[in-house]
Amino acid sequence: EVAELAEAGVPGAAKSPARFKGGSIEVKNIDMAYGAVQVLHDVSLKVEPGTVTCLIGPSGSGKSTLLRCLNRLVECRAGDILLDGESIYSQTPDQLRRRVGMVFQQFNLFPDRSALANITLALRKVRGMSRQEAERAASARLHEVGLLERKDHRPANLSGGQQQRVAIARALALEPEIMLFDEVTSALDPELVKGVLNLMADLGRGGMTMVVVTHEMNFARKVANQVVFMDEGRIVEAGRPADLFDNPQSPRLRRFLSEVL
Ligand code: ADP
Ligand code: MG
Repeated sequence: EVAELAEAGVPGAAKSPARFKGGSIEVKNIDMAYGAVQVLHDVSLKVEPGTVTCLIGPSGSGKSTLLRCLNRLVECRAGDILLDGESIYSQTPDQLRRRVGMVFQQFNLFPDRSALANITLALRKVRGMSRQEAERAASARLHEVGLLERKDHRPANLSGGQQQRVAIARALALEPEIMLFDEVTSALDPELVKGVLNLMADLGRGGMTMVVVTHEMNFARKVANQVVFMDEGRIVEAGRPADLFDNPQSPRLRRFLSEVL
């Protein structure tokens, strides 16, 4: 039935068949401090498997810090974070980071390596693959992000948008259950933003669980299942995009939206 609706072109009738097995996240009452300065206050958040959550809010509100807590780039001071119901503190950071991929504003590619080698290196080191296996898997990922024909190019010979897509392919190659994106389009020239956002929307449709810090309000509105507004280290409002954008409850969110929209 759903397939028929989808065939008839009814939008949203069917997700494309799940390519990914996205995990769930539950953040329970976390506090986080850099030294004496507390930057997250009692943050709680649920992310259902295969959904897209966008974190929005002013600069300095703690969005990046919350993302970093999720893969233990920083440690929280109180509270717990569950991945598929299990505390992320019951595994090593290395084990965790195989399950939780992250992509940054600065792509962090190795400048002296080809696009393909940037990915095979990660696969051989983290997954212990042979060269041949790694090249096969890396080529498949580059194909998925539309860059197979650029596999021998070094980062300097790729556009910013292409470099970011290689960085995303590298993270995907490790077959994570969760993908974290921290302002991945903020350093791109405007004409390159769309290609990266389209790729992210496609991953979301494929069933990847994603937490996305972004200033792209149109992306949040169209792609997110859940939007979370943060201010001063706290979650002020969270809910469906239409509810937050069209009917903000708090003066702080109303002010933020009036400034960015
Ligand atoms: P956002 O991503 O929303 O802009 P951040 O999570 O980067 O916010 O920052 C939250 C707060 O933590 C800010 O006040 C920021 O100055 C502070 N902060 C971020 N990183 C560090 C750090 N490494 N050391 C000390 N303070 C930091
Ligand atoms: Mg940030």
